[in-house]
Amino acid sequence: MPDEDVSHEAHEEEAYSRPDGPLAPGLYLVATPIGNLEDMTLRGLRVLRNADRIACEDTRQTQKLLNHFGIRTPTVSYHLHNERGRAEELLAQLRSGARIAVVSDAGTPAIADPGEELVRVAAAAGIAVFPVPGASAVLSALTASGLPAERFTFRGFLPSKPGERRSALEAVHAEMTAAAEPITQVFYETPHRIADALADVSAVFGPAHPVALARELTKLHEEFLRGAVADVHTKLTARDSIRGEMVLVLSGKLAAADPAGRASLGTAVKALMATGLDEKDALKQVARERNIGKSDAYREWQRSKSKR
Ligand code: SAM
Repeated sequence: MPDEDVSHEAHEEEAYSRPDGPLAPGLYLVATPIGNLEDMTLRGLRVLRNADRIACEDTRQTQKLLNHFGIRTPTVSYHLHNERGRAEELLAQLRSGARIAVVSDAGTPAIADPGEELVRVAAAAGIAVFPVPGASAVLSALTASGLPAERFTFRGFLPSKPGERRSALEAVHAEMTAAAEPITQVFYETPHRIADALADVSAVFGPAHPVALARELTKLHEEFLRGAVADVHTKLTARDSIRGEMVLVLSGKLAAADPAGRASLGTAVKALMATGLDEKDALKQVARERNIGKSDAYREWQRSKSKR
């Protein structure tokens, strides 16, 4: 039987095991609340209570959560700076049958947080890896944003340096222009950079581009600012201070879009050429992505050029 089937079976056994039954050996990625302690899942609590060890991004931070729920499982630090070395040490324990839970400070491990390296080495060593889902800022922001959630790209944090941030947004715009369908874009942001990031989005996507800014999700002062990026920027910068954790969601529909929500063929070809493709290859790629013949695409491209 191939390895994938073995781990899938182990997964099913764990997922449907009795709530008071023993925990199967393996690595458990446990999501923790992003603000509201009620978002800690029952299964997450059971895993944290019964694991041999909990690998934490910050042991002091996780200890507060464990104290709240009366959990006494030993913790060990596991963060971006010791990820490699610690992964080897934890792997040795997993190989001898340990049950290890991984948590980050808040939300789902491995999403803009440590966890990925440990999953990679554990999976490569044939250890069962169990996701224990729960809170995640990406999905909470996206699903309540009011923007299409069916197709989206999560991009983590934008670069902190202004020039790099602008280039990153221009690259996202070029990608969206060439895409066959609109794709909602999700970014993590920080309170001290959000005003500049919104100004850059306005410059690159146009001031009317629809966005949603999700702030303090699941907390007492949870807030959504939805609307044209220039209006959200004005509203936010009019405040005495900008605080809280936040997620920025951008509409996947670009200005000058066709009825399907895509950029015009001419704009798509130009955007690809701006990334370094020559005219012929750009035209070929757009025709393929839009499922149209090369000669139709060529005619449309010539028409768009004559309109300029
Ligand atoms: N792994 C986490 C998750 O699954 O959401 C994300 C960790 S990342 C280091 C932290 C960033 O997530 C914050 O800067 C913010 O962009 C976003 N975030 C986390 N909690 C949030 C909340 N309660 N409200 C809004 N954004 C949040």
